[in-house]
Amino acid sequence: SAEAALREAKKSNKESYFFYNNALHQQLLMKVSTENELQTALYNHQFVLFYQPQVNACNGTLIGVEALIRWKHPKRGIVPPSGFISVAEETGMIREIGWWVLKEACQRMKSWQDQGAPRVPVSVNLSFNQFHDDSLVKRVCHALEVSGLCPEYLELEITESTMAEDLERSIKILNEIRALGVGVSLDDFGTGYSSLSYLKSLPINQLKIDRSFVLDIARSNRDQAIVTAIVSMAEQLWIDVIVEGIETKEQLLAIESCRCRAIQGYYYSRPLAEEDFSENYLA
Ligand code: C2E
Ligand code: MG
Ligand code: MG
Ligand code: MG
Repeated sequence: SAEAALREAKKSNKESYFFYNNALHQQLLMKVSTENELQTALYNHQFVLFYQPQVNACNGTLIGVEALIRWKHPKRGIVPPSGFISVAEETGMIREIGWWVLKEACQRMKSWQDQGAPRVPVSVNLSFNQFHDDSLVKRVCHALEVSGLCPEYLELEITESTMAEDLERSIKILNEIRALGVGVSLDDFGTGYSSLSYLKSLPINQLKIDRSFVLDIARSNRDQAIVTAIVSMAEQLWIDVIVEGIETKEQLLAIESCRCRAIQGYYYSRPLAEEDFSENYLA
């Protein structure tokens, strides 16, 4: 780590000490300026949500929508989450941004439903910091109240690594969320620690098989075996399964042969800007 390097440098010689000290200083400056930029972005309404359809592969019916944040940067254009989520997480800004996402997604879905859109849940990704914030449940209630969206049409996507730190506490929080009638989906399933005991004890109602199992699925018997096993295990636990990252017809066919019907991926649709989603899905 930078701190360890700094300690070493201090011991060995002055010159490298200044070097590392300066590097740390630069890092800090970068962080502070990005934090300011994110704050500005939030207050100037530069964040927008895109919406990616989730469908039943058998008939193409819409079964859900995932809200995915984008930053409409005045100079850099549309910045994907990979360009700012980790800094936002480090600086803590992710919380404020995330609460905005939650409210915005609920309001959007309610308004679409009022305009005749299919009644399906909107999925919102929760960051580590949000999940571990004591105000989470209150925020969820508030977002539902303000928007008027029924709880059954909200789903929260949470990764294993977010919940791994304190399993007991995670279970308690999930139970509170589920008691509201809100769904919980285990995101990026298979990439984390994937301990089966999580599946045993976490009160989730859906798991999302990560894209990494899909990439080679058309050719890999191993990936097919894994996905088939996950699907049948989930079935017996009364947990729904959705696969993310389907890009080709071959992947779709392979996934279907694993008895998985719910899919999300570029093959069916990319994440859509609000207007594009309205155009395609409003009656
Ligand atoms: P995720 O929750 O696993 O979301 C799925 C990601 O896969 C999205 O990337 C989506 O655009 C992408 N994707 C969907 N289908 C395909 C496909 O067929 N092929 C490929 N290559 N990719 C596909 P995106 O929008 O860039 O988001 C990346 C990650 O950023 C998300 O992964 C999620 O972890 C995080 N994220 C996005 N929006 C939010 C948010 O509002 N709050 C928080 N905390 N995190 C968010
Ligand atoms: Mg997700
Ligand atoms: Mg995912
Ligand atoms: Mg992912």
